[in-house]
Amino acid sequence: MVNKMNAILEKTEEATQMKGVAKKKRTSRRQKVRKITILISFLLFPVIIFYLSPYLPIRGGIEGVIVGSLIVFAVLFTGALFLGRAYCGYVCPAAGLQNVCMNIENKKTKGKYWIKWFIWVPWITTVILMPILVAEEGITQVDFLYQTRENYGVSLMGLPGYVIYYAVLGIIVVLAFLVGRRAFCHYGCWMAPFMIIGRKISNFLRLPALRLKADKDKCIDCKRCDNVCPMSLPVNELVKSGNMEHSECILCGYCVDSCPKKAISYVFSTPSKSRSK
Ligand code: SF4
Ligand code: SF4
Ligand code: SF4
Repeated sequence: MVNKMNAILEKTEEATQMKGVAKKKRTSRRQKVRKITILISFLLFPVIIFYLSPYLPIRGGIEGVIVGSLIVFAVLFTGALFLGRAYCGYVCPAAGLQNVCMNIENKKTKGKYWIKWFIWVPWITTVILMPILVAEEGITQVDFLYQTRENYGVSLMGLPGYVIYYAVLGIIVVLAFLVGRRAFCHYGCWMAPFMIIGRKISNFLRLPALRLKADKDKCIDCKRCDNVCPMSLPVNELVKSGNMEHSECILCGYCVDSCPKKAISYVFSTPSKSRSK
C-alpha cells in the first residue's frame, strides 16, 4: 500500500515538474521550422491560390480540361500513401493562417469531423460528372496553367480575385475564432479527404509510411500532448491505446517534440495490426 502511494506521489511530482517545463513553452527547432514554413506558405497564398481551387476543376471539366488544382489534389492523394497528411502539418498555406489564429484563440475543436464529407462528396461528384455529362468530347486536355496564364495570382485578377481571396481567408479566420483550432481543416477543407482516403488505402495495403509510434509505458499522463495538438486530438488516449493512427492527425510532430518522456516518436513503417481510427 505504502509503495503504491509512493509511486502515485512520485508520478504526481513528476507530472508537476513537467508542467513547469511546459510553461516555459519549449519549442523544438523542428516546430520552429515548421511554423515558419507554413507562415511563408501563407504569405505565398495570393500567388498559389488558384492551384488549390475547388472551382477551377468544375469549370475545366465543362471544357474537358484537367486543371492545375486537380493535379495538385492528385499529388496530395498520392503523397498521402507514404506521408499521410504531412502536407497539412508542414506545407499548407491555410495551416499558416490558422496557426496565426491559434496565437489569439486556442480553444479545442470538438468531433463531428464527418461534416467535411457533406461538402466533399457533392463537390467531387460534380467534378467527375462535368466532363462526362457536359463536355462535348470528354477530357481532351491536361493544362496545369488553365486560367492562370493571364490571371496569375490574385492581384492580376483584379477585384474578383481579391474578393475570392479575402472571402476564403474570412471563412478560415471566422471558423478558427468561433469553433476552434484548425476548424476549417476539420469541417470545411476540400483537400483533406484526398489525403484521408490516400492514408486509408495506404493502411489497407499495409504500405510503409510516415507514422507516429507510442511507448505507453513511458507516458506519465501529463497531457501536454493533448494540449499542444493543433488538431485537438486525444493524443494521451491514443498513446494509452498503443495505436497512434487517426484520420485527423496531420503528423505535425508537435506531440513528439513536446512529450517530456519521449513517449511518442516518428517512424517510417507499415501500420500496426491494431485498428486505425
Ligand atoms: S486540412 Fe486542408 S486547410 Fe487544413 S492544412 Fe490540410 S489541406 Fe490545409
Ligand atoms: S505521451 Fe503525452 S501525456 Fe504521456 S508523457 Fe508524453 S506528453 Fe505527457
Ligand atoms: S497527434 Fe501529434 S502529430 Fe498528430 S496532429 Fe496532434 S500533435 Fe500533430
